[in-house]
Amino acid sequence: MFESLVKAPADPILGLADIFRADERINKINLSVGIYKDENTLTPVLNSVKKAETYLLKNEQSKTYLPIDGLATFNLATQQLIFGNDSQLIQENRVKTAQAPGGTAALRIMAEFLASKIKVKHIWVSNPTWPNHRNVFQTAGLKVKEYRYYDPKNHDINFDAFIADLNRIPQGDAVLFHGCCHNPTGIDPTLEQWQIILDIAIKKRWLPLFDLAYQGFGQGIEEDVLGVRLFANSLPELLIASSYSKNFGLYNERVGALTLIAENAEVADKAFSQVKTVIRANYSNPPSHGGNVVAYILNNPELKEEWITELTVMRQRIHRMRQLFVKTLQEKGTKQDFSFIAKQNGMFSFSGLTEQQVLTLRNDYGIYIVNSGRINVAGMTLDNMSLLCESIVNVLA
Ligand code: PMP
Repeated sequence: MFESLVKAPADPILGLADIFRADERINKINLSVGIYKDENTLTPVLNSVKKAETYLLKNEQSKTYLPIDGLATFNLATQQLIFGNDSQLIQENRVKTAQAPGGTAALRIMAEFLASKIKVKHIWVSNPTWPNHRNVFQTAGLKVKEYRYYDPKNHDINFDAFIADLNRIPQGDAVLFHGCCHNPTGIDPTLEQWQIILDIAIKKRWLPLFDLAYQGFGQGIEEDVLGVRLFANSLPELLIASSYSKNFGLYNERVGALTLIAENAEVADKAFSQVKTVIRANYSNPPSHGGNVVAYILNNPELKEEWITELTVMRQRIHRMRQLFVKTLQEKGTKQDFSFIAKQNGMFSFSGLTEQQVLTLRNDYGIYIVNSGRINVAGMTLDNMSLLCESIVNVLA
């Protein structure tokens, strides 16, 4: 039965990581997969995480199953991180959260809930978007459609086209937004633009969904959720998939959450019971360790402060690298204007490099960038910047 299968193509992003690992060139530079790197191109465990793990190792009493929706302390902490400690939504029991094995699982549960429980047929994603969105939603049985988002000529949001497309989406469809740090473009709507988008959602009555994988990597943990909060406070229903992979550096622990908002506590309860049936049929219940770490940190004021400081260091390093990248490209003699890169949010930039230029950089210079031209700015350091920019300028010439 297996013989007739054809080989699946390598994942466009994770596949590159394997090729990078096998590359023996000493000066190779990895700007592909979305992992934060420090100035030594390492991704160390955060100190706040180490402290939480030390505590947990000493105090953990049992490895018994978590509930289907995971740890209650984690789920409440997730809601507070998104909506604020004093959120009325939480007080009114309009919010329900299920801990999930990573943002990807949260998206998958979201997708199956939409497809099988409320019979949504179409989901709209931005063009471009994180390639796995299409995989996840399609596999769950939804038809994926695209709304225009990016203007490659001006390296900016194409707001007129974006709005025009949102206005054409029919009632009953679902529309996915990136809460902050849009992957791959690094360009987010302003608060004024979110308000316009929200007004369309209210008028057209499609269901907004948020993918929140980079809270704290844009402008700050509060600033990065202003758009999500605007929607949450104005709409009866919303779904949010969070990931703690990046902001806690817990990539391989698989920590995320699916949060559901309904118009009142009773509806939230009913809808969430259906979310739980989806989870039960997928992975039954989430793993404990990563969720425990996040809950322990977020519920301990001193550790939370330490985590915020560590997150700030990561965010500021990326901002500095953006500025230095633009400056060094100029110094190396580029004729193109790359100043847009300094204005973007999060780890990623759409560089504007063509697929051919990306391949030349990979083959001739050992510089790894995703074929779409998406660059992980966190892969840049003071040490590799000069070589990186020199190579890019050569390839552009
Ligand atoms: N959404 C976006 C936009 C992402 O970039 C990622 C991670 N690359 C995810 C979701 C998934 O995160 P996780 O690793 O927690 O599954």
